[in-house]
Amino acid sequence: KRVLAFVRVKPTAHFAQDMIKLGSDNKSIDIYIQKSPKGGVVNNCQTDWSFKLDGLLHNTSQEMVYETVAKKLVSKALQGYNGTIMCYGQTGAGKTYTMTGAASEYRHRGIIPRAIQQVFRSAAEFLNILVTVRISYLEIYNEALFDLLAPALGRGCKDNQLAVMDGPQGVYVKGLSIHPVSHEEEALQLLFEAREPRCALESRGVIGEHSLNKNSSRSHCIFTMYIECRSRDYTNHKCLKSKITLIDLAGSERLSKTGSEGQVKIEAAYINKSLSFLEQLVIALADPRREHIPFRQSKLTHVLKDSLGGNCNTVLVTNIYGEAEHMEETLSSLRFATRMNWVTAEPAPNEPFYREASVKALEEEIHLLKKELIMQDSMANRSFMSYNPLTTAQRAEIRSQVQKYLRGVIEEIDIVNVRQIQEVFRQFKVIVSKQEEEVECRLWNKYGLGHRD
Ligand code: ADP
Ligand code: MG
Repeated sequence: KRVLAFVRVKPTAHFAQDMIKLGSDNKSIDIYIQKSPKGGVVNNCQTDWSFKLDGLLHNTSQEMVYETVAKKLVSKALQGYNGTIMCYGQTGAGKTYTMTGAASEYRHRGIIPRAIQQVFRSAAEFLNILVTVRISYLEIYNEALFDLLAPALGRGCKDNQLAVMDGPQGVYVKGLSIHPVSHEEEALQLLFEAREPRCALESRGVIGEHSLNKNSSRSHCIFTMYIECRSRDYTNHKCLKSKITLIDLAGSERLSKTGSEGQVKIEAAYINKSLSFLEQLVIALADPRREHIPFRQSKLTHVLKDSLGGNCNTVLVTNIYGEAEHMEETLSSLRFATRMNWVTAEPAPNEPFYREASVKALEEEIHLLKKELIMQDSMANRSFMSYNPLTTAQRAEIRSQVQKYLRGVIEEIDIVNVRQIQEVFRQFKVIVSKQEEEVECRLWNKYGLGHRD
């Protein structure tokens, strides 16, 4: 199985029809570039290129994009498979629109809010499985890590404490806050609050303005949903863990085109470096003979160590412009998509792990069930009901009731609770076996069969 690669074309009134041909199979895309007499970056021998990927998303609604790239991956995550979706492409081509969407209208919401919705809706449909969800939101800017959800630090503040670590259960970011969320709105609230500080950073000039797009993101943003599924039944202790990693990468355009200086130049250098490490990683992952996979070269590749290829379901969305002026970047984005498409993966569910049923947990369960019974009784207007084991006096009372019933003194025995019903049956059994013995004894005597032994 391969990493799936899709291409999404940003809608435009100036689509370069002569240069970009979209195949009728909705998978292939051909690029034609006129050889320039003056020469230039793309002026080599080849003037046309063909790419074949897993799907083209052209004039496609946010809903259809979600259906195509994310729906299956998210439902697989609920079965224990890790899933990663990554948006790659030049600034302004639609990565953030695809990943997060536009807040202006509900139908413009992107993959993250839709994935949150799908997870909670599915969780609500599982009858016997309890799903717990936690989220984190990490930003990597100039090789520094920021916790976008850290409440104590002031959201989006630089936190030197954050560090990428290799643990026994895979890679994690030490110090990154992970928030339990119990419903969709709670998760969305955190997500949208987290998006604000970027504006704050921008206003302080920390994130440089860019000649291509003033509001461009110069950082990589990684939204993670940690899912844990376990049975509601206390006798089944199997748990399944998985995570969904949703990545909005920084713009992939090369330095030369942006004509940047100073802070922006530094940013671009970091971005180019981390994206080229990402490419190297992808190439290494695609090569089955490679033993060393260079994960540790950058924060981004290190964080993604167990989220790319391997046993995860991985999907890449490459966002491109449809205009002629962006052809050079489009070409390089399509090349990246193709390389990503070569990466093989063997998706496998994470190993389930077992939780010890502690005595404490069972006691809590009993306590809860007793409370439940009291509530049921009060709703049924049965007061003073006791569910403790029967006393000797209560047993004697039940025995006398059963005897009265057998003699026809009373018509019925009222049902009180499970313990009482069990005691009634026990008393019946006692009476029946006593009678059997009596009858047998009488028959022996009547027919003079002598001693029973
Ligand atoms: P990026 O994150 O790649 O830099 P954005 O997602 O911010 O780019 O997109 C730039 C602008 O284009 C935004 O205003 C966004 O709403 C708009 N846009 C991008 N893709 C689409 C699309 N498919 N449909 C409508 N608007 C889009
Ligand atoms: Mg963006």
